[in-house]
Amino acid sequence: MIAFIDLAAQQARLKPQIDAAIQRVLAHGQYVMGPEVVDFERRLAAFCGAAHALSCGNGTDAIALPLMAWGIGPGDAVFCPSFTFAATPEVIPWTGATPVFVDILPDTYGLDPLRLETAIAAVRAEGVLKPAAVVAVDLFGQSADYPRLAAICRREGLKLIADSAQGFGCTLDGEHPVRWADAATTSFFPAKPLGAYGDGGAVLTNDAALWERMDSLRVHGKAVAGDVAGRQLEHDPKYLNMRIGMNSRLDTLQAAILIEKLAAFPGEIVARQAAADRYAQGLKGCCLATPTVIDGGTSVWAQYVIEHANRDALAAHLKRQGIPTAVYYPVPMHRQPPYAGFPQGPGGLPVSEAKAELVLALPMHADLTAEVQDRIIAAVRGFNG
Ligand SMILES: *Cc1c(COP(=O)(O)O)cnc(C)c1O
Repeated sequence: MIAFIDLAAQQARLKPQIDAAIQRVLAHGQYVMGPEVVDFERRLAAFCGAAHALSCGNGTDAIALPLMAWGIGPGDAVFCPSFTFAATPEVIPWTGATPVFVDILPDTYGLDPLRLETAIAAVRAEGVLKPAAVVAVDLFGQSADYPRLAAICRREGLKLIADSAQGFGCTLDGEHPVRWADAATTSFFPAKPLGAYGDGGAVLTNDAALWERMDSLRVHGKAVAGDVAGRQLEHDPKYLNMRIGMNSRLDTLQAAILIEKLAAFPGEIVARQAAADRYAQGLKGCCLATPTVIDGGTSVWAQYVIEHANRDALAAHLKRQGIPTAVYYPVPMHRQPPYAGFPQGPGGLPVSEAKAELVLALPMHADLTAEVQDRIIAAVRGFNG
């Protein structure tokens, strides 16, 4: 049986380091906010050239934290794609704000900058909601068009979040999304390109004040340095709660595992790129589309997604040959019951709707062998439907 994402092969490759890291945490016993958490945050920030990294409980909270820190709430419009995982729009109504769905580009699946501009203009013209922020998504592992999206956000006075749960490690012109976004977020869900052995997430930012506010929010709105400066306290500031926050911490054990995984990550990105190149070569001309990466961009290949007019029959054909596939995403978010009532940009979401019928993700991970890939390629090529 071929694995869709082979976490067992990765574990076998990294086992000595990971076992040792787990034992070190068991020995010191600081299971929550232990020394590995701060160490991992420092390494994560360095990896993508960010000034600060803040770890948290999962990649969903990672998107919510900057929105909360900026005070985004009722009456605010937050623009995001519909062709994404539920977490992207989900956190927006948590704050009381309204998601406004914007269509994607047909080749890279990134948020369409022109559609974003018309959506912002339409919301302003209507005068009910105030445009406040944009959450762009690095879908399937590659960067959205941040230079253009950031220019629009700057001009319009909007905050920009890069939801890089699938794209952590991707670059554009050699830079990571946090170069353009006010905050870039990621998830350490095990199947993501940089995954833990459980849930986890992080926010990257170059804004020290934002980092401090999010540090407060992730632990119940605890007082942070900026809150207590110049104040005389009669009790431990740990029990001074300055804002309504949450409990969203990265476990020390997960941080210890992630330190080892991050060390192996650059090599895995190279291996994923080699696998993507092999697929592109082998699948030439046999489907509607193989992936297009944005000019100047690199992908970490969270997914290798092809498009096929007879997608479901192709998936069944592959399954019969022991090849697992997945559909990300069969129903765009604006078609999901709790999200159907939220506004859309002018022109609706025709690209998102079309892609939901066509996309098929093939097995992709750093330990994919050429032999297995050749079997997958031959099976796709052997489909005549
Ligand atoms: C996985 C994912 C998330 C959420 O991550 P969790 O850690 O599962 O909360 C957010 N956005 C996108 C695009 C994702 O793929």
